Amino acid sequence: MKEIKNNFLERLWEMVIKPYQVPPLLELLRCLNQRFELPPDERQQYINLEKGHEGEQKFSVLLENLTNDCLILHSLLLKCNNTLFQIDALLIFENMIYLVDVKYYEGDFYIDSDNWYTLSKKEVHNPVLQLNRCVSLFRRLLQKYGVTLPVKGYALFNHPEFTLYHAAPELPIILPTQINRFMKQLHKISSKTNNKHMQLAQKLLSDHRDESPYTHLPAYSYEQVKKGIVCASCHSLLTSLIGSRVICNGCGKEEKVDDAVLRSIKEFMMLFPDRRITTNAILEWCKIVKSRNTVRRILGKYFTIKGHGNYAYYVNSDQKDDE
Ligand SMILES: [Zn+2]
Repeated sequence: MKEIKNNFLERLWEMVIKPYQVPPLLELLRCLNQRFELPPDERQQYINLEKGHEGEQKFSVLLENLTNDCLILHSLLLKCNNTLFQIDALLIFENMIYLVDVKYYEGDFYIDSDNWYTLSKKEVHNPVLQLNRCVSLFRRLLQKYGVTLPVKGYALFNHPEFTLYHAAPELPIILPTQINRFMKQLHKISSKTNNKHMQLAQKLLSDHRDESPYTHLPAYSYEQVKKGIVCASCHSLLTSLIGSRVICNGCGKEEKVDDAVLRSIKEFMMLFPDRRITTNAILEWCKIVKSRNTVRRILGKYFTIKGHGNYAYYVNSDQKDDE
């Protein structure tokens, strides 16, 4: 379990117990998308993840401005009664927990007898039903923990171009034009969290599950994936090596060869966690770098060598022993 600072006397404002991070599946799909033609379903999934990420990241930035005493956890995946459920953001105040589902819908939507549609009449999942399901599972989980704090759930729509027609005012939703007011309300909450709140946050953190992103990827093989160094700025493979700099012929971005190769090694490790990192493997992977010495030098600088001669390979420097 992660260590958390326990000094309450010094703490005057919010504490982010679990910060927002780019979802691992999104990171993988970003990598793969540059080098491999994603099948239509996965491509759509990738686009949706990028949008969801944009919304959640924007909301996490807003929460950074909170100055009152509360504990914040982002992106939790929890299980209650054998059902998995996901929480985008959880704000634990002294006397109330806010559960916020962030929706980054774009465009015009309307509600017709509890169903949600786009203006072109395409039905979408009812976000309020999703929210209610999530809140009710979370309440049950709190019961199991023996925690009696009340929970308020909101679906927060933070795309600036989202419009919703026929919405009843009592719905637990926050529209783009209401976000400032919602944040002001949060600011005004008088709260002093204590050890019990911190224990709850720790319990949630330890019950959080990290889902393996690999189960959601399309099938791809090493041979199918394009080799080369992806531009750090426009993500194209239009890069070439000139002297000690990698230069993009698409957007003009320049990067030091060390940085570009290190970035590419990390992509290689993400996409092919079972393949060994050797000088030859990285030479082939980076393609535009022809110098064995350059690759060996970079590997030697950032990784730990194992084995000898032709059997040498590299592991992460913090990895003590992998077999
Ligand atoms: Zn570029």
